[in-house]
Amino acid sequence: MKQKTLRSATDLASAGLIDATEVPAISEVAKKYAVAISPQLQEILDRPGIKQQFVPSVAELYNSPSDQQDPIGDNANSPLKGIIHRYPDRCLLQPVRVCPVYCRFCFRRETVGPGNAALTQTELEACYKYIAEHPAIWEVILSGGDPLILKPQQLANIIMTLDQIEHVEIIRIHSRVPILDSARIDTAMLQALTQRRPIYIVLHINHAAEFSDAAIAAIEQLANNGIVLLGQTVLLKGINDNAATLGQLMRTMVKHRIKPYYLHQADLAAGTSHFRTTIAAGQKLMAALRGNYSGLCQPQYMLDIPGGAGKSPLGPTYITETEQGYVVNDYNGVAHNYNDTV
Ligand code: SF4
Repeated sequence: MKQKTLRSATDLASAGLIDATEVPAISEVAKKYAVAISPQLQEILDRPGIKQQFVPSVAELYNSPSDQQDPIGDNANSPLKGIIHRYPDRCLLQPVRVCPVYCRFCFRRETVGPGNAALTQTELEACYKYIAEHPAIWEVILSGGDPLILKPQQLANIIMTLDQIEHVEIIRIHSRVPILDSARIDTAMLQALTQRRPIYIVLHINHAAEFSDAAIAAIEQLANNGIVLLGQTVLLKGINDNAATLGQLMRTMVKHRIKPYYLHQADLAAGTSHFRTTIAAGQKLMAALRGNYSGLCQPQYMLDIPGGAGKSPLGPTYITETEQGYVVNDYNGVAHNYNDTV
């Protein structure tokens, strides 16, 4: 019998993922924040670092004093439904607010979930008009929700319409689909994604254990069809916050032609404080990657500044200015003088 996507506390209890006594509390969580564990995800749930990312816990009912409803200021930067415009040369287009799976630490958890209809044609046309009227927009980022949950024809229409706007040179798509709902990367989807170049896909991957055979096959298809693949990872306490796990993840990405792009400090999303590390811990991990893992395996460690001011790199820094020039630390922490006087 075909497995179904698990969406409720009762589903989770029947699958043995939570105890029957937890059903009332987890039902409360599920009422606030969507739950979906797809059949493909169910097959890898027992691998390290997977379950905590997707199976809800009562910890989500706790809001820490720093938690925010709109942690990265999407609302403040949304001139119309479907567009978030934070930086001059790029904007987000959110055609859909549904995902194949729901991450327990999601920064948009207040606004994504089943039942959120995709943008209507009229709403989409208003978004295209906005983009066309802003010639500084060089890149459009399709985000969500997960844009690859759309039907290939819907996605193709969006891509082809954006392609007709002369100043839009780059289309970037952020997605979990190739890794966790890989069957969607079929011939029709590949056709939709390859009608124009360049298309970048940023894959959200937090643990090397997410690379199932199906995921690897989907990635191969995307890479073989000329789509540039980047990886983004959220630093998550108890899941990937040690150098060996993070290093293995970055190497696995690179091996499969995915260039690690960002390591995100977890956002201040409501009910997610149990996932957050300190920034000092993140900087220490980045220092542990540097030198010990190839330069190809180095993401940038980023903070999306709460409120909507945009992303900034968090370091660590390796250089200090002195009266004589600079002191630069190597990856072993040994200091070296450097003078840039010409
Ligand atoms: S795939 Fe992205 S938008 Fe969807 S739940 Fe996960 S983090 Fe949130």
